[in-house]
Amino acid sequence: KEFVLENQVKAIRIEENGGPEVLKLVSVGVPAPEKNEVTIRQKAVGLNFIDIYYRTGLYKHPLPCGLGFEASGVIEAVGADVRHLKVGDRVAYGQSPLGAYAEARNVPADRVVKLPKGVSFEQAAAMMLKGLTVQYLFRQTYRLQGGETILFHAAAGGVGLIACQWAKALGVKLIGTASSPEKAALAKSHGAWEVIDYSRENVVDRVNELTNGKKVPVVYDGVGKDTWLTSLDCLEPRGLMVSFGNASGSVEGVNLGILASKGSLYVTRPTLATHVPTREKMQAASDELFGLVAKKKIDIIIGQRFPLEDAGQAQQALQGRKTTGATILTLD
Ligand code: NDP
Repeated sequence: KEFVLENQVKAIRIEENGGPEVLKLVSVGVPAPEKNEVTIRQKAVGLNFIDIYYRTGLYKHPLPCGLGFEASGVIEAVGADVRHLKVGDRVAYGQSPLGAYAEARNVPADRVVKLPKGVSFEQAAAMMLKGLTVQYLFRQTYRLQGGETILFHAAAGGVGLIACQWAKALGVKLIGTASSPEKAALAKSHGAWEVIDYSRENVVDRVNELTNGKKVPVVYDGVGKDTWLTSLDCLEPRGLMVSFGNASGSVEGVNLGILASKGSLYVTRPTLATHVPTREKMQAASDELFGLVAKKKIDIIIGQRFPLEDAGQAQQALQGRKTTGATILTLD
């Protein structure tokens, strides 16, 4: 194979599923980009809970494989059919094939957007996957209207802190949940209307109190197994349960009758990929996110930085609920 970069680059690979110890730092060559790809020399990598699902094997991928979906950097080479990007462009992506944990790599060009001037590489690596997720959750899955009150779990997390600020920008009262007073205070200081400490308080009772018994039209739940029933009990009749993650384990064995008995509820289990299937949709969603960041309606909070070689430790911190906001992997 012809290699596009002179030297080998460092990347994380897994050969088997398991704990953080299966992450191995290896040296790899970066082949010349295919006609629809670009080669990116990366500047920062975003860490996401989904990376843990691929490591443990909850989500399946042939092995060995890389990890990670989100990063930023500079274009080093461009495939023959790529028109919208050129060498030297500052770019980012949040929904690529697995393999973002690397110093450099090839990515399909339709997944890559140019960075506006005001957005740093670190901010970009911290917000593409998470921010585009909030974009589709709030603007597509259920189109939020100013004045509505909603419930959003794990509000102090990576997706959570963007959600708090985006809801406020839309005039929506976001009731968040978090597992400590410190995390609750953080979510509140970033725009949550109220935050329930679900390690101590009864979520259904508090949501009833805060909404005068009305409950909410939509619940956004990335926690999964532990909050499934609570979330259903917080919904108005005909409300929508958006189950978008499994931080505590996946929701299984659901009897559909439960949706009838709790008030003709709707449920959806969305993914980012299906909401940004084309370059145009990816660009439109990114523009909306970048616009809110430029207007300072959303501040990208990077709570933790780890060097690439400590990606296992970074995942352990995320899985152990020890992080707030976004976590990024830094590159030399
Ligand atoms: P976070 O930074 O939000 O970290 C996860 C948080 O979940 C923890 O900090 C913790 O907050 C909470 N949590 C509750 N129970 C547990 C548990 N048993 N173990 C670990 N954490 C728990 O992660 P991300 O921002 O990366 O992702 C948030 C969720 O959104 C994940 O479920 C992820 O898979 C999902 N997601 C889904 C997408 C989609 O398109 N479907 C796209 C992006 C993310 P606390 O301590 O306050 O409870």
